[in-house]
Amino acid sequence: MPQPISVVVIGAGIAGLATAVELARRGVGSITVVDKAYPASGSSGLSVGVYNRQYVDADELAIRALGAEIIEGHERDGRIAITHNGYLRIARDASIIPSFEHGVAIQEDAGLPESRLLEPSEIARVVPDMNLDGVVAGLWGAADGYLDGHALCTLYVDDAADLGIAVRLREEVVGHSVRSSGTHVVTTSSGDLEADVVVNAAGAWADSVGDILGRPVPLVPQRHECFVFQLAKPTGYVIPTVMDYVVGDPQPGLNFRGEGDRQLLATLHTNDVIADVGASDPDTYFRGVVGDHVEDMAALLIEALPSLSDMGYYSGWAGLYPLSEDNYPILGPSTAGDGIFFTCGLGGNGIQNGPAAGRITADWILDGRPTCLERATLLGIDRFSPTAEEAR
Ligand SMILES: Cc1cc2nc3c(=O)[nH]c(=O)nc-3n(C[C@H](O)[C@H](O)[C@H](O)COP(=O)(O)OP(=O)(O)OC[C@H]3O[C@@H](n4cnc5c(N)ncnc54)[C@H](O)[C@@H]3O)c2cc1C
Repeated sequence: MPQPISVVVIGAGIAGLATAVELARRGVGSITVVDKAYPASGSSGLSVGVYNRQYVDADELAIRALGAEIIEGHERDGRIAITHNGYLRIARDASIIPSFEHGVAIQEDAGLPESRLLEPSEIARVVPDMNLDGVVAGLWGAADGYLDGHALCTLYVDDAADLGIAVRLREEVVGHSVRSSGTHVVTTSSGDLEADVVVNAAGAWADSVGDILGRPVPLVPQRHECFVFQLAKPTGYVIPTVMDYVVGDPQPGLNFRGEGDRQLLATLHTNDVIADVGASDPDTYFRGVVGDHVEDMAALLIEALPSLSDMGYYSGWAGLYPLSEDNYPILGPSTAGDGIFFTCGLGGNGIQNGPAAGRITADWILDGRPTCLERATLLGIDRFSPTAEEAR
């Protein structure tokens, strides 16, 4: 891209804010972030904030490790609080163990903080209250943790202010055209914004914003509920994040973590686009939790943590995973090479991956490739083109 350039970023969630800040840090002087509501008003304010490195695929691990590195850099700078409660993936079938061993090996190769394969007796030490019937092994990362999605977005809002980025709130993008010079005109509810580059970082709305930009995005806004349970007495330790789901399983799996030592946050997690969880309209979906689901979740938690069975339901909410068709993020330029870029499709991992996604998109815009993580070329929207499908 010839520089200096001007950029409009659509969306003030973690993806859009991180993209804008990374661009400004690299010297782009004219950046506007526009959001139809306010920072973290979409999925970024509705997450449970977990990040981890317990992956068994090197490509997946690479972006998550970059995300973790950036987040932990903010922690070292004293800018965000992280609870390092650890992350445990559960295997209930011995056939999973080689993939967990591979996960440990690729983390070692990447020089990441220690990850270990745990025997059930060792799992009992990290989650003393857990029912280990049927559990054959765990993939454990003690350094992983959780943080607050609002706090992370606020950190980037502060950076945006310091770096001279204009953040325009309560302003909806409603139209788009391109001048003969190639300049984009983004029409919002308050007027027109001109820019050389437009970034679609609209989360669960990225498909409708894609339609406005004339660059469709294959995306499913998938509704997920989070349940908060109050424990009858303090556990004396923060329960680690436990993921009882194996990637590729057709059914969502139980995922829970402690919030302090008196509460549990629980969700049903899947990386897959599945009908059971349901696609939802991001403007009208039900933000509460369904009553029957509270009972179902209570039963699952009591089975998983029988010694904490006197827990009580406290509250809950629902939010959206902005899920691409293959559940990987969509990062990089449009296939038309017209100055439209994507930082979207972050699914159920956007708090962790958003800071990395922002850096990768900034590289695409300024270097023409993802300099900070070359394997992120795999995450381009071109993978959904008919030619790419034929090649697969
Ligand atoms: C229940 C739940 C639990 C989760 N837990 C985790 C977790 O533990 N760890 C993790 O890493 N991730 C988690 N996630 C996923 C994570 O929250 C998302 O992947 C991430 O927040 C997506 O960020 P985003 O910036 O892409 O989208 P968003 O945060 O939704 O931001 C998009 C923004 O675009 C704006 N916008 C949309 N349309 C327009 C328009 N036309 N004009 C202007 N602005 C527009 C919206 O107002 C919104 O602010 C969870 C999600 C849910 C729902």
